[in-house]
Amino acid sequence: MENLSNIGVIKDILERHNFTFSKALGQNFLINPSVCPKIAEMGNAKKGFGIIEIGTGIGVLTNELAKRADKVVAIEIDGRLLPVLEETLAEYDNVKVINADVMEVDLHRLIEEEFRGMEVAVCANLPYYITSPILMMLLEERLPIKSVTVMVQKEAGVRLCAGMGTRDMGAVTVAINYFSTPKILFNVSRGSFMPSPNVDSCVVRFDINKQTPEGVTDEKFFFRTARGAFSQRRKTLANSVSSAMKIDKQTVVKAIEQSGLDPNVRPEKLSMSEFIAFSENLKKLADC
Ligand code: SAM
Repeated sequence: MENLSNIGVIKDILERHNFTFSKALGQNFLINPSVCPKIAEMGNAKKGFGIIEIGTGIGVLTNELAKRADKVVAIEIDGRLLPVLEETLAEYDNVKVINADVMEVDLHRLIEEEFRGMEVAVCANLPYYITSPILMMLLEERLPIKSVTVMVQKEAGVRLCAGMGTRDMGAVTVAINYFSTPKILFNVSRGSFMPSPNVDSCVVRFDINKQTPEGVTDEKFFFRTARGAFSQRRKTLANSVSSAMKIDKQTVVKAIEQSGLDPNVRPEKLSMSEFIAFSENLKKLADC
């Protein structure tokens, strides 16, 4: 549907369907016409690709994805949007809308059933209340996908795309860099949405790595160590891990030293290979 990001057209559709925004579901719809074509183009929406979209709203991004990709499967939790989408997506026969919570959808099965013979990518203007759980689920599930391109809060984007060994990193950075190569694509001002949120946003892309880094024998323990390491901001690695994982400090310090690191090192100083070495040594010493 043309002009779907035109504010007058959006207001008319929402009024005719008596739609009211749900804050709890993170409903801030895009009204800046230049943003969705850019997300679609930079997010692998093209011939040969099937796209999973999370959270359609009234279908403004869905339209741009459907124009470019072979097929779009859009997952939207709010059933009140279904009649709206029937109208706004009427001209496309390559879009399927699923009314569900994305966290409860079997995405492996969906990809197998809906996208046979296609490469697959995820594109979304994510609901901010659930950004990290959705991203972690998409990565940890090891889905056969090429990329995840999403709009997130600007501050979240900086943290998610921080390199290892940088000041902005956190536990989520370790997981992101383990599974993918992250990149901030462009910023989007708060005025590009209706209703306008209190924060600016950015679009980020995670290109899924073909292989995860070598040397991790127990991924669960590795990510538990990462969460422990960043559980207390500005504390040393030894103190944070010891208190969060309930392992005595001497053992943690020994694992740090065995990894060739300073016992007073802070977690944000570690590279991926140093993190892996530390977690492996800790696992052996703490007998976890
Ligand atoms: N893509 C639209 C746009 O850009 O205008 C809407 C984006 S809005 C930020 C987020 C959308 O995600 C809303 O339509 C909301 O109802 C939907 N949503 C929220 N939680 C969800 C969940 N757990 N699973 C699927 N969709 C969800």
